[in-house]
Amino acid sequence: MSGIEIDLYSDTQSKPTPEMRKAMAEAEVGDEQQGTDPTVTKLCEMTAELLGKEDAVFLPSGTMCNQISVAVHCRPGDEIIADKTAHIVNTEGGGLAVFAGAMARTVDGTRGVFSGEQLTAAVRNPRRHTPKPRMVVVEQTSNSAGGSVWPLDAVRDVSAAAREKNLIMHMDGARLLNAVVATGHTAREFAEPFDSLWLDLSKGLGCPIGAVLAGSRDFIEQASQWKQRMGGAMRQAGIVAAAGVLALEHHVERMAEDHENAKRLGELLGNTPGISVEDGIETNMVFFNVEGTGLTAEAFRDRLIAEHGIRIGANNVYRMRAVTHLDISREGIERAAAAVRDLARSVHS
Ligand SMILES: *Cc1c(COP(=O)(O)O)cnc(C)c1O
Repeated sequence: MSGIEIDLYSDTQSKPTPEMRKAMAEAEVGDEQQGTDPTVTKLCEMTAELLGKEDAVFLPSGTMCNQISVAVHCRPGDEIIADKTAHIVNTEGGGLAVFAGAMARTVDGTRGVFSGEQLTAAVRNPRRHTPKPRMVVVEQTSNSAGGSVWPLDAVRDVSAAAREKNLIMHMDGARLLNAVVATGHTAREFAEPFDSLWLDLSKGLGCPIGAVLAGSRDFIEQASQWKQRMGGAMRQAGIVAAAGVLALEHHVERMAEDHENAKRLGELLGNTPGISVEDGIETNMVFFNVEGTGLTAEAFRDRLIAEHGIRIGANNVYRMRAVTHLDISREGIERAAAAVRDLARSVHS
């Protein structure tokens, strides 16, 4: 078999829906770089309102949101504090050091979540010898630590400790809306303690491109200058922003289905010989270990594609990650689970 029929590699793999393509085709546009694209302006206003912040700026990617935030908040030699699994530390090409000249100090959290006490312990005493602790990053939901939600109490606990130490609070909210749907708390409640935060449009929301960064008017003014500097300022970007507007209106509540599908996948894989599913499926990610099958994750991934047309990512040597999204139906989940079980059974000795 060739080709991928069911793609659980990431929630970035969803394709724009027909409605989304229509909204994009019909979008009213202007010059985003000059602040005159009405659709981009609308998307930014909607996001600022949703998150309870003064202003927002549309950017091409979540990575750029993170990197611009660090560049605004930190001076060279400053230190950011984040969980050891954080995307901003591990998966952004060392951008912290490149753009801001910042360093990272990581915390050994539990499923990506750390406490105020752990934060306080990670904050160095200011001495001329040490890097200057400057900002804290909360990844909501935590991606490679399990798709786990930072509970509101944990967010507040960390933010109280951060304020105590005069640290800036930044949220990598790539999947904040998954946390909203999973917990029933509002996006504003989660956003309240943060100086800056952003949403990714190209993950669970199902858009082809884009992310929106929010914060105070002053922060967004500075972020917008970085956007220009980095070459992120666009022109008739309303074409892509229209997808974001539609997604914020119609694709948020439906993520509950993705979460149900992830839970179902976890259940279906539960008693598979050679496979061990990680506990605590809270949102749209399922992690499992294939060591007991005798295959590495990469070999397992390749055979699953070749023999079943199903793609699941290899996360490290034996760990795999399946992510549900807009293009994954309940039937797709059943088929994917059957394929994983089939392959595990055929290789398990
Ligand atoms: C995907 C992701 C990013 C980066 O977003 P891009 O839009 O792919 O640049 C940052 N943080 C987390 C937690 C992510 O999952």
